Amino acid sequence: MWMRKLRILTPFSQKLLFTKRETITISSSYCKPEFDFHTVEQFFPQYIRRVNFRGNNLGFCGRSLFSCEAAQRNSCWNCCNAKAFLVCTDCGCVQPVDHSVDYFKIFGLEKKYGIEGENLERTYKDWQRKLHPDLVHTKSQKEREYAAEQSARVIDAYRTLTDPLSRAIYILKLEDVHVDEEEKIDDVELLTEMLEIRETVDEAADSQALKQIQEQIQGKFEQSSISFADALQSRKYIEALAAIRRMTYYKRANEEIVKKL
Ligand SMILES: [Zn+2]
Repeated sequence: MWMRKLRILTPFSQKLLFTKRETITISSSYCKPEFDFHTVEQFFPQYIRRVNFRGNNLGFCGRSLFSCEAAQRNSCWNCCNAKAFLVCTDCGCVQPVDHSVDYFKIFGLEKKYGIEGENLERTYKDWQRKLHPDLVHTKSQKEREYAAEQSARVIDAYRTLTDPLSRAIYILKLEDVHVDEEEKIDDVELLTEMLEIRETVDEAADSQALKQIQEQIQGKFEQSSISFADALQSRKYIEALAAIRRMTYYKRANEEIVKKL
């Protein structure tokens, strides 16, 4: 932390006034380690959020200036709040997308497959409200762009996590397991089962019969989802991939039925 310096202020603050929001390089001749940055607030115009001092990023936190370098990652680009996430809780500034933050973290969840009991919708709506174009339209172009990107990512995250199949694929990708979603199936047992399902769907006399088949398929899908969770927990990725294959097929079969209903 740079908790030093100041006094020099007159020439210094004048310089800042001219440059407004730009990054400012403070010459080393202004550095007097015995001075305290806390007093800086009397001299610095409040709209200056960031300065560059001897190659260090300094930022205002509240009304004092300190080095953001250590906390730069995951900290607010505007006020250096180290806990800033999507939207800074301190200054309300929208943060740029950080791809190292996974979808589970966006919803404050532990990275695990079984999240059925969690209320994702509330967090989802909360983020969308904070990132909504109507709410950020008075902000800078940069923040509006951040908000649009963050909002799109939150939508992706919500859709991915609320769908058991997408969530399974996503969590395997996080584990660095390659999932080929276009893979050709050579599992004879599964292929035979799918043919049988197709035949029963084709032969179904009415919507009542179709709904019955749909229920059975839903049951099989849920069973595969449980198999996936078990395989993932014991890190048996080949089994996990096989479960994903089944879920994919059951999902498609269900879509076919929905079309007919
Ligand atoms: Zn902030």
